[in-house]
Amino acid sequence: MNKLFSIFGDPVSHSRSPLMHNSVFKNLNYDACYTRTRLVDGDKLRETFFALGLSGANVTVPHKEAAFKACDEVRGFAKSIGVVNTLVNENGRLIGYNTDADGFMYAISEFKDIKNVLVIGAGGTAKALVSRFLQENLTVSVLNRSEARLDYFKKLNCECGVWNDFKVQKYDLVVNTTSAGLKDENLPAPLELINSILENSNYVADAIYGKLTPFLKMAKDKNLTYKDGADMLLGQGVLANELFVNFELNKEDIKIQMKKSFQL
Ligand code: NDP
Repeated sequence: MNKLFSIFGDPVSHSRSPLMHNSVFKNLNYDACYTRTRLVDGDKLRETFFALGLSGANVTVPHKEAAFKACDEVRGFAKSIGVVNTLVNENGRLIGYNTDADGFMYAISEFKDIKNVLVIGAGGTAKALVSRFLQENLTVSVLNRSEARLDYFKKLNCECGVWNDFKVQKYDLVVNTTSAGLKDENLPAPLELINSILENSNYVADAIYGKLTPFLKMAKDKNLTYKDGADMLLGQGVLANELFVNFELNKEDIKIQMKKSFQL
């Protein structure tokens, strides 16, 4: 096998990235294989990457900020947010990128007239999405469970709040970027607050994929237009794969083959 890729995370067993990328490699005859690596200590990311002899990797919860630190060079959008989800081995140098935000923009392209967005959560995904929304001149509010991580967003002049001091406004789109609902049945904020937010929102999205989270179930029950994180996953995956194969494969072909793996 010519090239080996992996996803790093903890937990990582739920990740669909191996299926997605292997579907592309296999069906487009690209000599490579993609595996998964559970990594507990983010500080070990760099040495583990090179010890495994990887050509590239994706990084998921909770190591995207550690991945930024592990790089020799960070390119594009990832540089401004300090969050990396894609690593490429370029002649022994570790190059970092972020494909999550553009993947999400692709996912919501069917949602029209979005001007005012509420992001729930303040982790790596929230940073990527909020920075991308601000690039598009959208008005962005951020709601998080705890205060500490909100500083980053206050500096960007976003309206910020924690559960007990949050003033709900009208939103065109509300996005859950927390991991509440990933491995549990939690809502990303207390029930009453989520109720009020959804009653003031048009479109609803969740970064979590492969299940109807309690948050999306509430949106569904209120007849709101909603989507889970599957298209975001597809979008970020296509962009990461292009980087892995150094743009040697056609983007549309990558997308078709990657999408096939969603039926598995
Ligand atoms: P981080 O660990 O960086 O951030 C997690 C955030 O979730 C923090 O704001 C944290 O709040 C909050 N949180 C965690 N548990 C709870 C809870 N029980 N109730 C309320 N808030 C909670 O994670 P990421 O940003 O990297 O990822 C977040 C989610 O997005 C994951 O579920 C991941 O799977 C998903 N994702 C999906 C992608 C896709 O392609 N579809 C791409 C990227 C991510 P606090 O600050 O208080 O700790």
